[in-house]
Amino acid sequence: MDQSQINAQRAQPIAPRHHLIDGKHMPASDGATMEVLSPIDGQGLTTIANGTARDMEAAVASARAAFEDRRWAGQPPAARKAVLRRWAELIEANALELAVLGVRDNGTEISMALKAEPGSAAGTIRYYAEALDKVYGEISPTPGDILGLIHKEPVGVVGAIVPWNFPLMIGAWKLGPALAKGNSVVLKPAETASLSLLRLADLALEAGLPPGVLNVVTGEGAVVGEALGLSMDVDVLVFTGSGGTGRRLLDYAARSNLKRVYLELGGKSPNIVFADAPDLDEAAKVAAAGIFRNAGQVCVAGSRLLIEDAIHDDFVAAVVKAAEAMRVGDPLDVTTQIGAVNSEAQLHQNLGFVETALSEGAEVVTGGARILDETGGYYMAPTIVTGVTPDATLAQKEVFGPVLSVTAFTTDDDAIRIANSTVYGLAGAVWTSNLSRAHRMVRAVRTGVMHVNTYGGADGTVPLGGVGQSGNGSDKSLHALDKYVNLKTAWIKL
Ligand code: ADP
Repeated sequence: MDQSQINAQRAQPIAPRHHLIDGKHMPASDGATMEVLSPIDGQGLTTIANGTARDMEAAVASARAAFEDRRWAGQPPAARKAVLRRWAELIEANALELAVLGVRDNGTEISMALKAEPGSAAGTIRYYAEALDKVYGEISPTPGDILGLIHKEPVGVVGAIVPWNFPLMIGAWKLGPALAKGNSVVLKPAETASLSLLRLADLALEAGLPPGVLNVVTGEGAVVGEALGLSMDVDVLVFTGSGGTGRRLLDYAARSNLKRVYLELGGKSPNIVFADAPDLDEAAKVAAAGIFRNAGQVCVAGSRLLIEDAIHDDFVAAVVKAAEAMRVGDPLDVTTQIGAVNSEAQLHQNLGFVETALSEGAEVVTGGARILDETGGYYMAPTIVTGVTPDATLAQKEVFGPVLSVTAFTTDDDAIRIANSTVYGLAGAVWTSNLSRAHRMVRAVRTGVMHVNTYGGADGTVPLGGVGQSGNGSDKSLHALDKYVNLKTAWIKL
């Protein structure tokens, strides 16, 4: 990665952006715009359309028309595959531009963004392009005078609402399988991370995706997101974001057309370290990276560190050392390991959690404060809080920031009880050399993903989804395709 190329990209002005509806760039119906502030320095970057419910209705109508005339679903699989593959190539060819644009908008450190954003998005689109003619219907085991067929039909119009932490990666997790199956999509990016997704959608058109098959509407969640959720013409809603919004989406579905709703919500993921971990130094470094990269704004972040009593103090010291060695700063500097917090509001929320932890009797052993104020941007020191009781606010609520909660445990059962004591169930890890203990913990801790002797990095071949209040349904892997199809039975008398 070349710093001078990144600098050249960052110097580019960003033209005001409109929605993408029916293959055209359209301003909001009332002309309203929203200023985009960069978390790097708090300065204005450009504007995006501040969409209206009417804009959303136009986008859904476009997606519906594109689906009904089968301009995409009706193409031969090989043709759809070629378009998606071309799109993946264009994403790779424009990776630096996409990554820098995204970082200026959302603040993720560029070293992570390059891999996790365009790199991951291209891989995801290509994976589903390759899958689209390999996953198909079934013939059921019927008596000889009957033919039972199970068709996997596209659902129609998919509404996708995505967050700001990894817009391209998470966007592609929804777009890849939805488009591979022949659906049309209306995408609603987060207010503070729309720019790179708008560019991604332009590249889809360039790759040959027909107009109307992918529409992007920007603006406030409570306006355009609500309109998408309440639409009578959206068949499936897929979402990554907060639990509060997830609840609203279920309510919108209930109040409108009972559309299917798939939610990927937050987590309070336990990272459980036993004294018999194979390499405690490595475990400490990975534990720090597992909560502090992207300033903790990672849904699967290992935000609760559970440490076996016998090694508690030494292990905390090692994680503090690892955290203090991580470079916080300008997200567009290739050596930065922890970028900016996405918005001022998020930064204040993070600091509020630290105050609450202190008031509940916990101890801040490093960090705990805003830093680099002179930049005008939103930065927070990696923060480690020890002595957090399992029922404390910091152990129960998702911060979505660089704040690690530490709790000691004594036995395996104690670790399991604490790990399972939140409403969430997204991810977790166990560090041990004992194979049986590792497998017992994998079974006993209620999550969608358990890591053993590592944290994060699971690739696109395995599903990511939560249990409990972390959500339902999975992104990634062939299983994600299930969300975007209807099963239809044909029962044929021969
Ligand atoms: P976060 O706390 O991570 O910002 P949100 O759930 O607020 O999580 O945001 C995730 C996505 O949900 C964003 O695209 C946002 O615009 C959208 N959103 C927020 N509120 C609503 C709502 N009332 N209806 C639909 N979408 C919403």
